[in-house]
Amino acid sequence: MNRYEKSQKLFEEAKHLLPGGVNSPVRSFKSVDMTPIYTEKGKGSRIYDVDGNEYIDYVLSWGPLIVGHAHDAVVSKLKEVMEKGTSFGTNVKYENELAKMVIERVPSIEKVRMVNSGTEATMSALRLARGYTGRDKILKFEGNYHGHGDSLLIKAGSGVATLGLPDSPGVPESIAQNTITVPYNDMESVRYVFEQYGDDLAAVIVEPVSGNMGVVPPVNDFLQNLRKITEDHGTLLIFDEVMTGFRVGYNCAQGHFGVTPDLTCLGKVIGGGLPVGAYGGKKEIMQRIAPEGDIYQAGTLSGNPLAMAAGIATLSQLTEESYEAINEKADRLVQGFQEAAKEFGVPLQVNRAGSMLGFFFTDKEVTNFERAQTSDLEWFATYYREMAEQGIFLPPSQFEGMFLSTEHTMDEIDQTVEAARNAFKKYNK
Ligand code: PMP
Repeated sequence: MNRYEKSQKLFEEAKHLLPGGVNSPVRSFKSVDMTPIYTEKGKGSRIYDVDGNEYIDYVLSWGPLIVGHAHDAVVSKLKEVMEKGTSFGTNVKYENELAKMVIERVPSIEKVRMVNSGTEATMSALRLARGYTGRDKILKFEGNYHGHGDSLLIKAGSGVATLGLPDSPGVPESIAQNTITVPYNDMESVRYVFEQYGDDLAAVIVEPVSGNMGVVPPVNDFLQNLRKITEDHGTLLIFDEVMTGFRVGYNCAQGHFGVTPDLTCLGKVIGGGLPVGAYGGKKEIMQRIAPEGDIYQAGTLSGNPLAMAAGIATLSQLTEESYEAINEKADRLVQGFQEAAKEFGVPLQVNRAGSMLGFFFTDKEVTNFERAQTSDLEWFATYYREMAEQGIFLPPSQFEGMFLSTEHTMDEIDQTVEAARNAFKKYNK
């Protein structure tokens, strides 16, 4: 019997309707060679697919659902707001409410603009940085993902400090040339780029904990050093906290690491599962945004009441203690995986920042994209399918992070470790 029969049917139909059958590439489950599941519903830490399979969910909609699926407080707030209408294109009080929570909790943000996705947040922050500094070039890091805006969909050219190359057809070379890409955690390359282009660099954009090559935290004071060198050159430092924001701690990654950027991009958790992004920073910079200033950015659905409501209800659930409790569960999961890997001779590297977890199947410590690529992808796919069969839903790619929520229980953590032991037994290299 095929346990993914209904999902399989829907996917076959979708292939005729949507490019690749999906609305976002990772949902095709291509890299793990499995039928992509169609989710019917979710509650707390669990999701249920259309075939009736139940999973403990470590994807959590790719991070937003830190309080789990269909949290009662989020659902009731959404109902309350929805009954009064879904969108007006005027101001609503909820915009102020969410903005206040963001400004209070994110050290770098004095003023914030709401948008509809992480991609919009990073695109707009770059425009602001370029407009504010009057410079065009930006520096980003290999393996960091900042959404699919043209300036950010750029891979490294060959050699350090060469100008970037388009990462996709359709990104003009003339745009790519303004983006310089160097390895993550590599200050030597950053210094070299500043020597070459220092006075032309509008911004350095960085994931303060990288979550898009698997999870790779900063090492050797990387963020502190970026803060210093950008300050020295009048370049803005942008933290892309779309994933880390309200995920790695109550005050985001910048609070956790004690480094305050000039601009911060947010998304995921601040939308509580609805489409939201935001960017914010110092008043002096943010006041350049229209209509206060001359740099244009707008949105029909920006500050949408439902999206704001889901964000408010989600952030209202989170206290310093919630993060401690989630982290304890993450500790236990990591310990269980490490013990199981040792027992069955599986090479495993664990990277972690709060409840963002990255497991790599390699002997090498993973501090950048090149190292992340040493993970055994064939084994990852086998491990992935074994876990799914046992009802553990993980991100269907080695190069994505795993997340925990306030709703996961210690029993579920133990169940997950047991499933990993069963999977690791099949490792035979
Ligand atoms: N920045 C980071 C760090 C992300 O992880 C993502 C999405 N995974 C984005 C930007 C883009 O956000 P969105 O998919 O909402 O456009």
